[in-house]
Amino acid sequence: MLTEDMANIYVGPKRKKFHLHKELLCARSGYFTRSLAGDFKEREEKAVYLPDDDVASFELLVLWIYGSKLKAPGNSEELSRYLAVYVMGEKFFMEGLRNAITDSVKACYLNASAKASPEQLEYLYNNTSATCQLRLLAARTAAMDLYGRTKHLPDSLRELIKKCPDFAADFAEALLRFSAGEPRYLSREKDCEYHEHQDGKSCV
Ligand SMILES: [Zn+2]
Repeated sequence: MLTEDMANIYVGPKRKKFHLHKELLCARSGYFTRSLAGDFKEREEKAVYLPDDDVASFELLVLWIYGSKLKAPGNSEELSRYLAVYVMGEKFFMEGLRNAITDSVKACYLNASAKASPEQLEYLYNNTSATCQLRLLAARTAAMDLYGRTKHLPDSLRELIKKCPDFAADFAEALLRFSAGEPRYLSREKDCEYHEHQDGKSCV
């Protein structure tokens, strides 16, 4: 049973208000625990302001907090939103949310409903940490699309490689792995592949 203790989260430049159970927010996110329990102004108001975050992406985060299973993104626009939620998952210290997003993005690749464009790869690499496993999934999938099918690097990827050395390294390693015999497809079975588990445990 949830307590009636609520918090208001104001998202985006127009301050869209989300009225949420504080208990759930704090259980899922170290960021909100600190923001709502810390000894500063936000505690009295039980409010947090997130002017730089995207409202549609925050709505997905709220669905997840309240226990909904996130669907696989069905097109490129939805994929962009999911990548933004992943970035929120780093900012708000929400490992479970990050893993849920990774599962959804993986399902999106498996359904072939969308794949990360060079622009989306650039966004992901510019806005996540070096420990981000979703980066690896996205870089390997980009390599999978090309390996064995072409001798030519598309111009858009060439540009991305010049701009983004971390992507270049992950992309090159993926190609090496494929040439060493690693399967060039994503597995539906390996549940925790590309997950992050700081406590060393797995989901199953
Ligand atoms: Zn896991």
